[in-house]
Amino acid sequence: MPDVIVIGAGPVGTLLSAELARRGVDVAAVERRDDAAEGSRAIGVHAPVLAALEPSGATERLLASARRVSRGEARSGGELLGVVRFDRLSRRFPFVATLPQPLTHRALAEGAPEPVRGEVVAVRHGPPPKVMYRGADGQHALTARLVVLAGGPRARSLLYRPEALRVQPYPDRFVMADVAADGPEDAVVHLDRQGVLESFPLPGGLRRFVAPAPGAIDDPAERAAVLRAALRARGEHAAADAIATADGFAIRRTVAPRMRRGPVFAIGDAAHEVSPMGGQGMNLGLLDAVSLAPLLAEWIRTGDAPEAALQRWERRRRASARTSGVIAAVNTVLGRPASARLDALRGAVMRAALATPAATLLAHAYAMGFDRDA
Ligand SMILES: Cc1cc2nc3c(=O)[nH]c(=O)nc-3n(C[C@H](O)[C@H](O)[C@H](O)COP(=O)(O)OP(=O)(O)OC[C@H]3O[C@@H](n4cnc5c(N)ncnc54)[C@H](O)[C@@H]3O)c2cc1C
Repeated sequence: MPDVIVIGAGPVGTLLSAELARRGVDVAAVERRDDAAEGSRAIGVHAPVLAALEPSGATERLLASARRVSRGEARSGGELLGVVRFDRLSRRFPFVATLPQPLTHRALAEGAPEPVRGEVVAVRHGPPPKVMYRGADGQHALTARLVVLAGGPRARSLLYRPEALRVQPYPDRFVMADVAADGPEDAVVHLDRQGVLESFPLPGGLRRFVAPAPGAIDDPAERAAVLRAALRARGEHAAADAIATADGFAIRRTVAPRMRRGPVFAIGDAAHEVSPMGGQGMNLGLLDAVSLAPLLAEWIRTGDAPEAALQRWERRRRASARTSGVIAAVNTVLGRPASARLDALRGAVMRAALATPAATLLAHAYAMGFDRDA
C-alpha cells in the first residue's frame, strides 16, 4: 500500500508526486491519459513559484528552456499606454519565465513516479481512503493513507457534489495560437475597441497570441481567421500570415468551499479555477502542491496529522485562489471589446495608472505577488 495516491499527472499532480517522493514518501500516481503532457496552455511561471521550486532543482531545469520576460507593454491604437516592470519585483527572479506547458511538465516530472494509467472513477474516504480506477485490463482498487485529487476541473465530481460548488461561467470566448513570429523581447498587450490582443514571447522564436472570439467556434480554421484578423488590425501582418490553426477556450471561475476532508485533499484546478486571462491558474496550483508536500510528508513520517498547519494551509490556499480569481476576472473584463467612448476612457485610465506607482502594484498582482505563499 502506497503512503499517498495522487489522482492526475498534470502539472500540479506531477509536482506534488515529485515533492513527496523527494521527501521519501511512497507515492502512487494515477493518470487517465497515456501521455499527460497535452498541448500548451499555461506559458508563464512567476517569481514566487520559481523561488518555491528552487530547492528541488526544478527551477534550474525550467529556466534552461524558458524565455525570461522582464517587461510588459500596454498599447492602444499602436501607441504606448505604459510599461509594467517584472524586473523590479524579485531580485532573484526579475522576470516571468515563459515556456510551453509540456516543457514545464518535463521540468517538474523529474523524480516523480511514472503514473499508473487509468481513469479514477470513485474515491472513498475510508479509513483508509480508497481509489477505484479503470485501466486497460479492467477495474482496480488502491488504498493509501492519504489521497490527493489533482485531476483538474473534469475530476471535481469525484469529491464535490455539483450543488456544493458555485461555478461561474463567463460569456467570453477566446482564440489562441503559438506561432513563429518576430516581435519585441517584451510581452505586449494591445487594448483597442476590438478588445485585447495578447502577444507573449516564447522560447524558440515563438509567440503566443490570444484574442477575443465573437462566440464558441468549433472549426480550428475559423478560429485562426479570427486571430489573423485581430493581428492584422494591429498591423501584425507577418504573424497573421503564420497562423494556420488556432485553439479556443472558454472561462469559468470557482473556489471549492473545502480543499480537504480528513485524509483526502483537492489541489490545483480540481479545487479552484480562474480565468486563463490572468495567467495564474497553474502557478496557483503549483503553490498548492509545493506548500502541501511537507505537511503530508510530516503526517506520513509521524503518523499524526499536523492539524493546525493543515488548517492554515487550506485557509491560505483558498484565500490565494479567491485573490487570483478577482485579478483574472478584472483582466478578462478589461480586455472585452468596447465602444469608442469606453475604449477611450479605458485607455486614459490605463495610461494614468501606468504612469504612477500603481504600475508596480499591477505587476505585483499579475506576477502572483499577492499569493499568501509568495
Ligand atoms: C488557454 C489556457 C491558457 C492558460 N495559461 C496559463 C498561464 O499562462 N499561466 C497559468 O498559471 N495558468 C494558465 N492556464 C491554466 C492552467 O493550464 C491550469 O491551471 C493548469 O493546467 C491546472 O493544472 P492541474 O494539474 O491542476 O490540472 P490539469 O492540467 O487539468 O491536469 C489534470 C490531470 O488529471 C488527469 N485526470 C483528470 N481526471 C482524471 C481521472 N478521473 N483519473 C485519472 N486522471 C485524471 C488529466 O488527464 C490531467 O492530466 C491556462 C489555461 C488555459 C485553458
